[in-house]
Amino acid sequence: MRKWVKRFICALLYFSGWINLSLRREKGGVLRILVYHRIIPEGKSISPAVSRKNFLKQLEYLKKHYRVISLDEGIRRFKEKNLPPRTVCITFDDGYRDVFTEAFPCLKKFNLPFTLFLSSGLIEEGKLSWTEKINQAVENTTLSFLKLSWKGGISYPLRSFQEKKIFCEKIEEELLQVSPSLREKIMEEILSQTGESKSPSLMLNWDEIKKMWESGLLGLGSHSLTHPVMIYLSEEELKKEVVLSKKLIQEKISAPVKGFSYPSATFDERVIEKIKEADYEYALDVGGQINKYDQDLYQLKRIHIEDEPLYVFACEVKGILSFLRRKIVFKNP
Ligand SMILES: [Zn+2]
Repeated sequence: MRKWVKRFICALLYFSGWINLSLRREKGGVLRILVYHRIIPEGKSISPAVSRKNFLKQLEYLKKHYRVISLDEGIRRFKEKNLPPRTVCITFDDGYRDVFTEAFPCLKKFNLPFTLFLSSGLIEEGKLSWTEKINQAVENTTLSFLKLSWKGGISYPLRSFQEKKIFCEKIEEELLQVSPSLREKIMEEILSQTGESKSPSLMLNWDEIKKMWESGLLGLGSHSLTHPVMIYLSEEELKKEVVLSKKLIQEKISAPVKGFSYPSATFDERVIEKIKEADYEYALDVGGQINKYDQDLYQLKRIHIEDEPLYVFACEVKGILSFLRRKIVFKNP
């Protein structure tokens, strides 16, 4: 129902011409940062993904109606309070291989700059983040149910793709709230039943990143070393995640690393302090909103792009959906 309401409102605003009209009237002063994770050729994915077909349509739309600039330029203009109308920046988190195989050819086609926030330790070792381990194991399992010992013992149904997706979203949300040791325990329980996925590495390697870097379209940022839940880390662990992740990217690619994006959008004052100490110029949250000049540079919002029709994308980028979300018309569209 919520999705239906969202699509109905978006279709109305888009097809009536209201979105285009209000875009033409825009005066600037707004920084829109989009965040993607995976771009997949076709089919479904439990991890956040947009199909290549929809991604191409989205880029074509951005090229026609917006001014897509690099995030570095976006941040500079944000600081100078000099953002022209209809400014958009494109970012990707984590460092999935399909950013190279699927997204990059599309971005090259439209000559659009983009910034990739890498969990550089995972890239270095070809490993998956803890959330992606769960996604892959659950997506590929033939089990119909999964039993976990916590909360007095719960059985979760995994009989369809939809049930698997609901399980992953729910369990990952819950595991963000618990101590690292309990999270490890639950992870072990999940993986011992499903088995770890044997699919080839989903993550980029440094050669692929280098090829994208050489195109001149790519900017790089840090998304930590190992994609931890940062608020549970000790001072020493935090420091390692923010300092070494940047150092590794700079060693491998010789690229400037000015920004940090929070893994699982989880952070607190202590995490922000460590990021400032490590000389990052800015840090990115998600939150689904556009940024006005009073937004904290270390809590810049991004709009998470989902695999939705173009008329929903158009409303999302314009900032209509974040406005409606704030008014609590619907949650988590
Ligand atoms: Zn991430």
